[in-house]
Amino acid sequence: MKINSNLRKLIHQNNFTNIGKIVLKYKEKNPDARIISLGVGDVYKPIVKPIIEAMQKAVTELAITETFKGYGPTHGYDFLKKKILTNEYEDFEFSLDEIYISNGTKNDTTNILELFSPKAKILITDPMYPIYRDGALAMSRKVSVLYLTEANDFTPKPPKEKYDVIYLCSPSNPIGNALTYTDLEKWIDYAIKHKAVILYDNVYHSFINSKNTPKSIYEIKNAKKVAIEFRSFSKNASFSGVRCSYYVIPNDLYPSINTLWKERTINRFNGADYIAQRGAEAYYSKEAQELIKPNIKEYQKNAKLLKNTFEKLKFKVWGGIDCPFLWIKTKDNESSWDLFYNYLEKINIVIIPGVIFGESGEGYFRVSALGKTTEIEEAINRLKSYYEKKA
Ligand code: PLP
Repeated sequence: MKINSNLRKLIHQNNFTNIGKIVLKYKEKNPDARIISLGVGDVYKPIVKPIIEAMQKAVTELAITETFKGYGPTHGYDFLKKKILTNEYEDFEFSLDEIYISNGTKNDTTNILELFSPKAKILITDPMYPIYRDGALAMSRKVSVLYLTEANDFTPKPPKEKYDVIYLCSPSNPIGNALTYTDLEKWIDYAIKHKAVILYDNVYHSFINSKNTPKSIYEIKNAKKVAIEFRSFSKNASFSGVRCSYYVIPNDLYPSINTLWKERTINRFNGADYIAQRGAEAYYSKEAQELIKPNIKEYQKNAKLLKNTFEKLKFKVWGGIDCPFLWIKTKDNESSWDLFYNYLEKINIVIIPGVIFGESGEGYFRVSALGKTTEIEEAINRLKSYYEKKA
């Protein structure tokens, strides 16, 4: 048998699994160490009660012949699509046919490549959410890289060359910044000029604070002609373990695009979980929103605390205002991995080495604000005393 040899390229040192293994090994050798993770991109807040109750009700329906649900609509139930349209996309006049319910933006942002010719020129940033790179690689698609550095303030700007498919992540994992109206207008102009498509990963949209930052790419004129937007309930509704996401493919993108994509999706997917979709529907209720907003505020407060701390410790910091991640430059040219081991061994704190997100992440690290405030406060105390002692 000839295996897809690209899969071997996915097994490399710079990945999240490797960090997990290193931390586990350290714990085994140092069972008393109280490790605090500022690494994970997962939420810790439980799902709020109105959503849980909606899912419990859905479970009960499955136990009764009259209300039992088997295979659902491949592209999602209309009850959820309608909620998404009215609560998130009302201003943009999309139809139900342009919305797809799915089981995670992680899958969606790779699966969407089946929409394009295998010869399409794909552009990703570096640093980036590594799934875009690895997903494209697993599907034997070639990608080109747009490097983000301090010189461009880790903000992607349209290149001179023509690309067909461009991944943009805003608010950004790992940088933690977000593209402004002006940044996005430039990208939309670029995409119109080059007949390109922007794949806009917008899973952190609920964390946006800045006035100059659109919550959706469709706020930009002409975006419906060139952009597919991806969102998920993982971060704002704590659905990372439940799995429910959605994306928008505007009809204006290409003739019959949704007829084609529906055919493709019918062949690949039997629809997102009914229980998850009922839970997602309840996310939009007033009762759920009243409980969720303080959760998001807490993560935002954590981000602020961490940003202030690292800045006071004279680190150069990006992000943390519109996204629960901070991107931080190491001091004295310390490598990403050296800093990782230093923090793990000296203060029992886990961060993510920037190089995991691409080669231009070398010399930087990512800190997540999605943890418990009490743990983050403890981490801050450890960091302060570590640097006081070093001074
Ligand atoms: N996109 C980005 C930028 C992410 O950071 C993550 C998760 O960390 C995902 C997508 C995954 O989303 P989901 O849980 O919906 O698969």
